Amino acid sequence: MQENIEHFDVVVIGGGPGGSTAATILAMQNNQVLLLEREKFPRYQIGESLLPATIHGIGRILGLSEELKNAGFVRKLGGTFRWGSNPTPWTFAFSTASTISAPKAYAYQVERSKFDDILLKNAAHKGVDVREEHAVKNLLFEDGRACGVEFVDENGNPGRATAKYIIDASGHQSHVYKHVGERIYSNFFQNLALFGYYENGERFPPPGDGNIFCAAFEEGWFWYIPLSAKLTSVGAVVAKEHAERLKGGYEQAMDHFIASCPEISRMLANAHRVTEGVYGQLRVRKDWSYSNARFWVPGLVLIGDAACFIDPVFSSGVHLATYSALLAARSINSIINDGMDESRCFEEFEKRYRREFRNFYEFLSAFYDMHQNEDSYFWRARKVLNSEQSIQEAFVTLVAGGSSLYDEDLLVNTTHIERIKQELRQLENTEEESAPYFAREKEAFLDVLVAEATQLQTQASVGAKRGDEKPLFKGGLIPSADGFRWREVTVVTAGQ
Ligand SMILES: Cc1cc2nc3c(=O)[nH]c(=O)nc-3n(C[C@H](O)[C@H](O)[C@H](O)COP(=O)(O)OP(=O)(O)OC[C@H]3O[C@@H](n4cnc5c(N)ncnc54)[C@H](O)[C@@H]3O)c2cc1C
Repeated sequence: MQENIEHFDVVVIGGGPGGSTAATILAMQNNQVLLLEREKFPRYQIGESLLPATIHGIGRILGLSEELKNAGFVRKLGGTFRWGSNPTPWTFAFSTASTISAPKAYAYQVERSKFDDILLKNAAHKGVDVREEHAVKNLLFEDGRACGVEFVDENGNPGRATAKYIIDASGHQSHVYKHVGERIYSNFFQNLALFGYYENGERFPPPGDGNIFCAAFEEGWFWYIPLSAKLTSVGAVVAKEHAERLKGGYEQAMDHFIASCPEISRMLANAHRVTEGVYGQLRVRKDWSYSNARFWVPGLVLIGDAACFIDPVFSSGVHLATYSALLAARSINSIINDGMDESRCFEEFEKRYRREFRNFYEFLSAFYDMHQNEDSYFWRARKVLNSEQSIQEAFVTLVAGGSSLYDEDLLVNTTHIERIKQELRQLENTEEESAPYFAREKEAFLDVLVAEATQLQTQASVGAKRGDEKPLFKGGLIPSADGFRWREVTVVTAGQ
């Protein structure tokens, strides 16, 4: 029997936020993309507290700003910490940083099953061939170059697909990284997390009611994430020395950790743990931090948790997954569509990605020193970013999406584009009331108008700025005006 082999420009393994973001950005540049996801969505995942760079930067690029706004997620204006030598909880707001414009100074706390499903459906909507319940089993290589995958579908039937590029976005359980290099574990961050879901937990008074709350205690720290008015995600992150305690049962261990942390005990005093449905179990994840020795080899690139992972205290996981997805997709778009050099593009991808990971890593190493107060943490953030901002601003910039906020596409500062769109929508609503019969035609017309206005605005605002943009690394690349590709820096010599 002749085997059926399918051909694509890119195969993406995994449909989490990393995979669906990369696949969508590639498809938006007319590449043929196959995304293989092992599970049937919506599926459970941990990682519920997001950052502004993801919501306003990546969300906008993916065309999801409105859908995310309407999804009913809790708005997160910042974070509250009982941390370090200060016994009193302290709060930061995203609005403190000038890198974030006021209307965008928030992120969301999300049920990942819903959030990831929105991103995956959007990928399919934008032209990606999305196949759920398809598990990748092997990679194919030719002359040392990755060139395809072998997979099994929902009925156990084997399949093969070849591609110019394979993106591994299959998360922390990925085995594909072995083809790229060694996974190097941190000696410093060796924690495990025990987590569950509670109803009727207390909320901080507005406007901090959507904040993430992180509270340190003797054996580690807790996250407390409001997912709706009623539901809270609660997790204890403890050093591996305390893993023994789990042997007596998860329920008992969780009760012990909660009782050891006065702030969390107080917040949960009138709450009960959910014991049914998808949120009904206590789960454990070893969250050892790691980074792969390399992030790419010819034909194959790692993004998201497949490439690296860092302790979750600043909710950087989904941000790193989607930011690396943008960088990888930009690289592949430039190679396939513009004929740019593979090494040059992927070196740019890897350098930018590592820089972002390293910023969080360096800062977190200092943040775990519980003998300091918040001012000393803020100083450290400024040093890590090598920034001239005030120490508070530097801290907020870092924890809102780190140095990637200096990437124009993630700059959470595109107020005038949004304003034009809003104005056009208002126009649409007003006219619709008076002329309902023309609503359809008008909608189509307005869609085109909005698209054109947005494009012009993007070129005018971002493009004009981009003229002055410098590469982040000596001799490096900069993003194209539309943000979908890399471009060389144009050197203008005197007299031109
Ligand atoms: C305890 C803990 C708390 C965290 N809290 C936060 C937080 O508050 N905020 C935050 O941003 N991040 C947090 N994270 C990190 C976050 O969970 C991850 O960084 C994020 O989910 C990574 O996204 P991804 O797309 O790389 O991978 P994933 O979300 O893991 O997606 C990978 C997908 O690949 C699929 N897959 C796997 N193998 C295959 C295969 N062979 N074939 C096909 N498909 C496959 C999986 O089914 C999955 O859907 C936390 C992590 C931990 C451990």
